[in-house]
Amino acid sequence: MFRSTVVDPDYRRQPKTNCYCAMCQRDIKSGSPELWIVHELDTWTVVIAKNDIAAAVSDIRPRRSAHHYFDVVQFERVGSECARKIGKDFVMTKEEKEIAEKFVTEE
Ligand SMILES: [Zn+2]
Repeated sequence: MFRSTVVDPDYRRQPKTNCYCAMCQRDIKSGSPELWIVHELDTWTVVIAKNDIAAAVSDIRPRRSAHHYFDVVQFERVGSECARKIGKDFVMTKEEKEIAEKFVTEE
């Protein structure tokens, strides 16, 4: 089992750049610290707790018959305002995301 939280992304806005918040589609200023969330692939409304990513991958993988973690979960960038709303247990820094990716890749 893994902890998760339900979010409500708003896709009405059209981002102007390739770097935008996955929750509100607002562009993220270049140079701002990277903040990341992770969710099951194509399941945009459920964000997985950052400490439970490995558990989530083992949980979800058999259900999806997926071989690679990138067929199971997806990392997305969020802006600082949305990150605050989602909560610190679910938001990773760039460094935490890199560790998490490595961790779920090596099994
Ligand atoms: Zn946002």
